[in-house]
Amino acid sequence: MPKDWIDLHCHSTASDGRLTPVQLIELGKKLELRAIALTDHDTVAGLRAFHDAGRAQGIETISGVEISAEYPRGTMHIVGLFVDTQSQALRSFLKKLSDGRKVRNPQIVNRLHELGLEITMQEVEEEAGCLDSGPDGSPGDNKSVGRPHIAAVMIRKGYVKTKQDAFDKFLAKGRPAYFTRFAATPEETIQEIHSAGGLAVLAHPPYLKAKDEAELDGIVGELKSKGLDGIEVWYSTHTPEDTANSARLAAKYGLVSSGGSDFHGEAGRGNTTCELGSGVGGNLCIPYAVLEKLKARRR
Ligand code: AMP
Ligand code: ZN
Ligand code: FE
Ligand code: FE
Repeated sequence: MPKDWIDLHCHSTASDGRLTPVQLIELGKKLELRAIALTDHDTVAGLRAFHDAGRAQGIETISGVEISAEYPRGTMHIVGLFVDTQSQALRSFLKKLSDGRKVRNPQIVNRLHELGLEITMQEVEEEAGCLDSGPDGSPGDNKSVGRPHIAAVMIRKGYVKTKQDAFDKFLAKGRPAYFTRFAATPEETIQEIHSAGGLAVLAHPPYLKAKDEAELDGIVGELKSKGLDGIEVWYSTHTPEDTANSARLAAKYGLVSSGGSDFHGEAGRGNTTCELGSGVGGNLCIPYAVLEKLKARRR
């Protein structure tokens, strides 16, 4: 019996994933996934190759994007599903986010230099694959380059041991090489996703680091009042309690449930290895019916 399963959150080389959009589809084929949404950070540059490959391999592909939004307590991630990649409004919004990265990345690199770490923007761009583009779907200089790429260079050059080390010592908020970049509010982000015909889904609610359930409830209620459509109930680092909490919030606020692995093609946060489809240690198996409910909400 096929598992009839899906993954609605993953990353490619268009942002900080290790696999090209085409390689993601090849992997999905091997795993017998029925549908995959590509949700790169702040960019839709990988989606054309992703859809082409999905069509060729008989895997249903969904246009997604994961947008970082600023709210008073930090950064939250909002996933847009079913976005129209041709939407001019969405494209100009994503361009603003990308321009913000182009300002911030050199600031970070300069600060690292001041701190004695010899790293150049060229190395970061090479790491991100900005010079690659081609039939495998590498989107060349349309990529979202970010702190994970800077961290990778820091590791390669022996300045830190792990990505987490790089964030904890230098790159995270409050650390010496942290710089802000242009980001929209959650409300604006939800509106932009809607203007491109998409559903706005709150990604990995535990990353909001709410101090208790009441605070999380308050944040989700506020987002709902701004038009939030869905919430990730199934996610690779969710504990059973996280999943239950998210499901409860979905029911309370009439949000549609979504989920995915957040596969990046490498060990993610901490030292956990996250797999496409099945998450960490096989903790995910999201049925196709979840996607059907999302589609119904879209109509
Ligand atoms: P950027 O898009 O450049 O702002 O980088 C954001 C990405 O860096 C996130 O999607 C995470 O993968 C990673 N990240 C952000 N904060 C941390 C943190 N404190 N520890 C580890 N990884 C982080
Ligand atoms: Zn990422
Ligand atoms: Fe995220
Ligand atoms: Fe993600």
